[in-house]
Amino acid sequence: MLRIRELGKTYANGVHALNDVSLDIPRGMFGLLGPNGAGKSSLMRTLATLQEADHGSVTLDGENGEPIDVLRDKDAVRRQLGYLPQDFGVYPKVSAEDLLEHFAVLKGLTARKQRREVVDALLQQVNLWDARKRKLGTYSGGMRQRFGIAQALLGSPRLVIVDEPTAGLDPEERNRFLNLLAEIGENVAVILSTHIVEDVTDLCPTMAIMNKGQVLLTGEPGVAIEAL
Ligand code: ADP
Ligand code: ADP
Repeated sequence: MLRIRELGKTYANGVHALNDVSLDIPRGMFGLLGPNGAGKSSLMRTLATLQEADHGSVTLDGENGEPIDVLRDKDAVRRQLGYLPQDFGVYPKVSAEDLLEHFAVLKGLTARKQRREVVDALLQQVNLWDARKRKLGTYSGGMRQRFGIAQALLGSPRLVIVDEPTAGLDPEERNRFLNLLAEIGENVAVILSTHIVEDVTDLCPTMAIMNKGQVLLTGEPGVAIEAL
């Protein structure tokens, strides 16, 4: 699905966040595991075309099998990608329904009737239908993350990137969120970036472990974690 080669990023403060990262990410549910500061968010932001790399290449399998140059063809990537950033913030005084509709307009869903159908279906999919008229400021952390997933799924992406989505959720909301992600992963490629080992072992058939800007190993969770 994604081919990453020798990706490098050094920030202005001299931190080498990505140290020649090479990684093949298959279709399906992929876990990126690593401690805080490993470089996961830097990698996710680069894949999501929100941050420039210093060097390297990233290729995404396009819809018809044609390769897309992620670092250059940003518009093409954005049409196929959904992203839930680690610091996803919502406007507290707006209802879930209104904000999702607003994001839908930004995504290019201009036909009003079709947009309503998409928004309603997503609110149902993430189980926020009954809470759709509530202001987002009244949502729990888990509800906010589920709203974030609805937002990421607008435009029917082929790849969804979620960065530390369960951090700060209580066990019940975490399970709920991971079950939702597993459902989504049946149809869409998902990259789950997390520092929580169980998020990956519970959910992802393949994974990579990252530390200090480098990929240490990739494989099946059981095998990879044993090898550490
Ligand atoms: P660059 O232009 O190198 O991509 P950014 O614009 O992303 O750097 O960040 C600008 C500055 O913000 C950094 O040099 C740093 O001082 C600060 N900064 C932002 N996020 C972080 C972070 N997570 N850790 C440390 N410093 C940060
Ligand atoms: P992770 O997501 O695994 O916690 P990050 O990609 O956020 O890792 O951070 C990797 C390293 O880069 C850390 O040392 C962090 O402080 C630093 N960093 C992240 N963003 C910036 C930034 N914008 N400017 C400077 N340093 C940053």
